[in-house]
Amino acid sequence: MVDITWIKNTITHLVRSAPENRLIDFGGQPIFDTPLVGVADGDDPLFKEFQKAVSPRHLQPREFLHRISPRSTDLTHVNVIVWLLPFAMEVRRSNRVQNMPSKLYSLARNNGGAIIYNMSLRLSEQMHQRGIAAVSPILTTEYDTFRMPEFTFSSTWSERHVAFVAGLGYFGLNEALITPLGINVRIGSIITNMPIESSSQRNEDYRALCLKDGGDSCGLCMERCPVGAISKSGLDKSKCYSQRKAIRNECLEHYQQELQMLPSPIPISGQRRNRYSLGCALCQCGVPCEGVNPFHYTDRAKTDA
Ligand code: SF4
Ligand code: SF4
Repeated sequence: MVDITWIKNTITHLVRSAPENRLIDFGGQPIFDTPLVGVADGDDPLFKEFQKAVSPRHLQPREFLHRISPRSTDLTHVNVIVWLLPFAMEVRRSNRVQNMPSKLYSLARNNGGAIIYNMSLRLSEQMHQRGIAAVSPILTTEYDTFRMPEFTFSSTWSERHVAFVAGLGYFGLNEALITPLGINVRIGSIITNMPIESSSQRNEDYRALCLKDGGDSCGLCMERCPVGAISKSGLDKSKCYSQRKAIRNECLEHYQQELQMLPSPIPISGQRRNRYSLGCALCQCGVPCEGVNPFHYTDRAKTDA
């Protein structure tokens, strides 16, 4: 097994030094704090389950690395390095509002996508220079997002699910991933043939960090959603999508004129082009799991997190 300290340091450096991580429109406010890195075993049987839980088109790490590597590549080991990027406290705080996401959060969410795209590119290059096979799924033509009757909205690679395999978090009632850095994070990943130790130590309960139990003991994300998209049985993806579309229709044009919005090459139904992504995440801000593991949500965390 090899030590991946240099990869962890590289990921941290790429985020901290990225010019895109500073929002000029908000006095240089950083988007993300220090990342957390984990590793999923690319042969973990859970990846096969994602073809039922996420989409039949969900990619399998080994097949994927095999497809994009020269024949001579040693694929004895296949692992997925996953990184969590936590939104900075000021960004999260600004979104503890009602009805519409804050301007700061919307800009951070959008430009955060460009950071993930660019750092995936730079990390792949650095690994290739060291002779390591590595591919970040979001950079490839195999990565796609699409609508399906059975899964509503889906993709060929779910970063949340991959982070779950890496033991980096558990699903909340709102279907976002509750991590040691809280739920308000963005996630990136890269598949590699490096022989590295998996960080996965999963509890069988896939909602182990959620304070819910069907929303009975917490459920604050249900109250935070302005359109009632979250219930005791989980997330209504269609309602959530309609709200995010309404936010986009109302805000995107004037945000593009007013703010330094960065586009990212996002594929939808096989068509990749530069797009903007505003998001919402009111259900991830102003809740006990916002910036910490909710089991560690103390009075101090309420004000600092
Ligand atoms: S707000 Fe409460 S119920 Fe909702 S995901 Fe967070 S811990 Fe779970
Ligand atoms: S992202 Fe917004 S619309 Fe979707 S569930 Fe959360 S609060 Fe509701």
